[in-house]
Parts: sequence; C-alpha cells; structure tokens
Amino acid sequence: MIHHLHCTHLVFNIEPQERKIFELISKTADELEYPAYVVGGYVRDRLLGRPSKDVDIVCVGSGIRLAENVASHLRPIPRVAVYKRFGTAMLKHGDMEVEFVGARKESYRKDSRKPSVEEGTLEDDQNRRDFTINALAVSLNEKDYGAIMDPFNGLQHLEEKLIKTPLEPGQTFSDDPLRMMRAIRFATQLGFHIDDETYAAIGKYKDRIKIVSRERITVEMEKILAAHKPSIGFKLLFDTGLLELIFPEMTALHGVEYRNGKGHKDNFYHTLEVVDNLSKNTKNIWLRWAAVLHDIAKPPTKRFNPKQGWTFHGHEALGAAMVPRIFKRLRLPLDSKMKYVQKLVRLHLRPISLTKENITDSAIRRLLFDAGDDIEDLMMLCEADITSKNPRKVKRYLENYNLVRQRLEEVEEHDRIRNWQPPISGELIMNTFGISPSREVGVIKNAIREAILDGEIPNEYQAAFDYMVSKGQELGLEVAKIR
Ligand code: ATP
Repeated sequence: MIHHLHCTHLVFNIEPQERKIFELISKTADELEYPAYVVGGYVRDRLLGRPSKDVDIVCVGSGIRLAENVASHLRPIPRVAVYKRFGTAMLKHGDMEVEFVGARKESYRKDSRKPSVEEGTLEDDQNRRDFTINALAVSLNEKDYGAIMDPFNGLQHLEEKLIKTPLEPGQTFSDDPLRMMRAIRFATQLGFHIDDETYAAIGKYKDRIKIVSRERITVEMEKILAAHKPSIGFKLLFDTGLLELIFPEMTALHGVEYRNGKGHKDNFYHTLEVVDNLSKNTKNIWLRWAAVLHDIAKPPTKRFNPKQGWTFHGHEALGAAMVPRIFKRLRLPLDSKMKYVQKLVRLHLRPISLTKENITDSAIRRLLFDAGDDIEDLMMLCEADITSKNPRKVKRYLENYNLVRQRLEEVEEHDRIRNWQPPISGELIMNTFGISPSREVGVIKNAIREAILDGEIPNEYQAAFDYMVSKGQELGLEVAKIR
C-alpha cells in the first residue's frame, strides 16, 4: 500500500537540517537514476514523534556510490566510512549519522544468523525487515517524494501499537533469533503490544537464541533495562521462556514457597518493582543493574526456620560475590562499573540497619566510609526497595530513611568521611619506625582507621600521628625519627 505522508494520522516532523540532506540525497539519487528511500528506525521514530538521528537510506543501486556523491555536495565535505564487505557506507553530517546501502535480498542457513546476501528490489529489502513498523520506506525520488511504501500495514500497526513480523513469524525468528529479543525490546521501549501469533512464535523458537552471540543479547537486554519501565521487557522475557535461557539466576527468583503456612514474597516480581521504582528516578544503567541484582542470591541462601519463617541470611554478601560471574557471562565490563554494582549489592541492607533506634555515629561513619561517593545511589536503591502495598508502612519506611539521610549529612559535615583517605600512609609508618613493608604496617594502618571510624580519635593528622606512635610502641616498635 502506498500512502502520502500528509495523509497519515501520524506526524512526520523533520528539522530543516534533515530536510536539506533528504533533498540532496533525492537530487543525487535522481542523477544516478537510483530509486532511493529512507527506511527503518528513523521512519518509525519520526512517525511516532520520537527523536532519531540515525538515518538509513536504501537505494536500488550502489549505496557506496550514492554516499560518495552525496558527500561531495556537502560542505564541509564529510569523510565517508565505507564497509565494502557489507556494501554499506556511512557519513556524519551535523548530529546526523546517515547510512547508505543497496537494496538486498537475504537467505539464511540453519546454523547462523548471518544471511547470504544478494542485490534485490525495494520489496526484497522490506521483506527482510524484522517488524512491520520497521519495514516502512519513504521515497526520496522526485516523482513521488514523500510517498510511504507500506507493504505490511506498518502504519496501521504504529497506530495500533503493535509489534508484528512482516512474514510468517516462525520463519522470521528462526532465520535470525535476535529478532525475538528485538520484539521484546521494542515492545518495552515503545510501550507496544506483541501480536499474538508473533508472541507465540517466540515461545516456540526460543531455543534458537543459542546461535546468537552473548554480546548481541546483552545489548538488547540493556536497552530493555534503559527503558522507561523495564519490567515490561523482563516479564515478556520470562513469560516467553527466553529469560531462563539467557539469565537463569534471575528466573530462579521467581515463585513463592510455603511451609507451615508461611510464605515469602516472590522475589522476581519484587525485583522488577524495585527496578521500575528506581528507573523513575535515574537513568544510570549501572544503578539499574544493581537493582536487578540486589536480591540475586536470595534463592541460594533461602532457609526455613520454624520460628522466623523464611530467611535469606547473607544474600547481600553472596550476591556481591555472584556479580563478577554474571557480568562475565553477560559480557558486561569487568571494571569499575562492576565494582560499583558489587558494592551496592553488598551494602543494600546497611541503611535499613541504620533505621533502628540508638544508632551510634560510628555506625553512620562506617557506612559513609564503605559507600564513599556512592552513598546517594545506595539510598536511592534502598528507597526503591520499598515495595510494600501498605501506604502507612511505605510512609514510615521513607521517613526512617529520611532520618538516616539527615544523620549521614550531619556526620559527614562533622567528620568528612565520604572521600576519606586515612591521614597516615603506610610509607609514613615505615619511615617513623624505620621498618620495611611488613605485617605491622598493616596492623597500625587498620588500627588508625578503626579508631577514627569509631570516633575514638578525631579525623585529624596530629591525633592520628600520636595514635600511630602509641600503637607502634604497643607492638614493640621504636620511633626512628619524628617529623
Ligand atoms: P534502534 O536504533 O533503537 O536500535 P532501529 O530500528 O533503528 O532501532 P537498527 O538496529 O538501527 O534498529 O536497525 C535499523 C533497521 O534495520 C530496523 O528498523 C530494521 O528495519 C532493520 N533491522 C535491524 N536489525 C534487524 C534484524 N535483526 N532483522 C531484520 N531487520 C533488522
């Protein structure tokens, strides 16, 4: 079906810079006598009124040649990145990234999601797209500039908020199983519904996900996690059976066990609520990962105690220990980001313990020391962790955390612990007592840190120095020189 942009209910607002480049591509394609179209995500997002700066152009001809000719008319002339193997070329203009490719036809083998590719028509190219809403093409040729080629009712599906494959879904997913993840990701990002047949095919072909690389799967999972309401995607992943295959530790959180009439909360849905709560307040993807993982060790630490009911003792420590393995498998970075997530998982129960009565300054100082600059993120995670359905309880818990926040502020103002470096270095200890690196150096250093955190001595150089001297003497060391 061919529509004209002005006939649709959807809006296609483009900025002047984009209009200019489309006009240039149009003129250049006409010179080469190539039919050329804007396709895919840009068309979809523009019709939905979502910002998009990545433009995909398909032409019936050489995408590389079209890109080079377009570039030669732009000022300044942009560099064209050519990927010969894929027959694609990309150029940047302002904040736009424009990719050019010749229309193609794809065929798949059973063991790979990488198709063999041959030249094709616009129709062939639309057939190989994953969803009807991604298969829309807008003509750039003068004779029908702005006409929308919509062979699979993509426009209607945009209005109906529907994710549906253009061809038979089993075939589409079996050819490239990454599309199953993409279906769920788009449903989450756009708040769309997955068509029943398409949805059923995901369940049927889920095992094919094993031919997709871990990196690709994680990219989609992170896009789900970065969405407005990530639980939508995780629930779909769970319900289709994909989650069990790609992230079994998370599915292990699902379910409630009863003994002697006592149950516990379903930690899977609880975790998703925490992720959603947190996502209202932060875009920080690592903080969101911490929410996903905060209770990850509840299944392996679950015990039943006839008096207390269900317990999950030590789940915060074991959870932190599980983080590196999970990050490695998901191909997430094994660097300071992972350490940050680990820290938040490890500390996520500490602020609760500070809501009890008669909390000493020293307990507050210790949390400041352990959390450092991430204290605010930790408090956000804890607040998101409140998923009680009783509004009175929620109010009370939040008030308690407010008191903790106040105490944290007061103690920080007084003791400056947050970015604290102990005032006495190992080197100074060695110089003072004329000793080389040894166990004693560590013992003295720890003792000074503990004394400051416990409030035994003030967080000041001279007090710490004096304390070091007396601690060293206790250990039988003599002062070699005092600076
Ligand atoms: P986003 O930019 O949010 O990832 P997008 O739709 O632009 O969304 P891209 O991965 O940039 O996604 O892909 C551009 C277009 O290429 C898609 O709109 C779709 O038409 C097509 N496409 C991408 N990946 C696939 C795939 N695995 N199978 C079929 N078509 C695909």
